[in-house]
Amino acid sequence: MGMTGPHRIRVMYSAEQVAARVRELGAEITRDYAGLDLTIVSILKGSFLFMADLCRQIDLHLACEFLGLQSYGDATTTSGVVRITSDLTRPIAGKDVLIVEDIVDTGLTMAYLQEFLMTRHPRSVKLCALLHKPERAVKPITIDYLGFTIPNKFVVGFGLDYEQKCRNLPYIGEVEGVAGD
Ligand code: 5GP
Repeated sequence: MGMTGPHRIRVMYSAEQVAARVRELGAEITRDYAGLDLTIVSILKGSFLFMADLCRQIDLHLACEFLGLQSYGDATTTSGVVRITSDLTRPIAGKDVLIVEDIVDTGLTMAYLQEFLMTRHPRSVKLCALLHKPERAVKPITIDYLGFTIPNKFVVGFGLDYEQKCRNLPYIGEVEGVAGD
C-alpha cells in the first residue's frame, strides 16, 4: 500500500505480474512479425516504462520511435482533444507500425492517433496496450495485443500518472477514492 498525497494506492498488478505478461506479449509480437521491418511507436509519456520492458522482450531487429501527446482534460479524464507535442523522427511510409500505449479508456485518444498515423501511409498499424477499461468505451478500438482488462478504476504506476506523479511505481495500483470517470 502506497500513498499519493491524501490518496491510498492499492496494488492491482504487482511488478512480477506485469513482467510476466510483458514477456508473453513480447513473445507473441516476435512470432507475428517474424521477418518484417517493425517500428514500435511509444506514446509519451504514459507508455515509456511499458515500451522499455516490452522492446527487450521482442526478439526482432526493430526501430523504436516516440510520439509525444498531450490530451486536454482534467486530472483523471480525457476530452479527446489531443495535441502532438513531439513527432516521430523518421518516416513510417511502407513500415509495419505497432503503437505501444499505456491504457485505452474511452478510446478517443487512440482513434485520433490511428487516423493521424494513417496519413503517413504505413504498411500496417496495430496496437499494443497494457491496459483496457472496456466499461468506458466511447470509440470502438481494436487492441491487437492487450496486457490486462481492468474495471473502471483510476490506475497509476508503471508509467501511468496522477497529476504527473506516481509514474515510477514498479506496479500498477488503483488510487482509492478516485473514480475512472
Ligand atoms: P482515452 O482517450 O482512451 O479516454 O484516454 C487515454 C489516455 O487517458 C491514456 O493514454 C492515459 O493517459 C489517460 N488515462 C485513462 N485512464 C487512466 C487511468 O486510469 N490512469 C491514468 N493514469 N491515466 C489514464
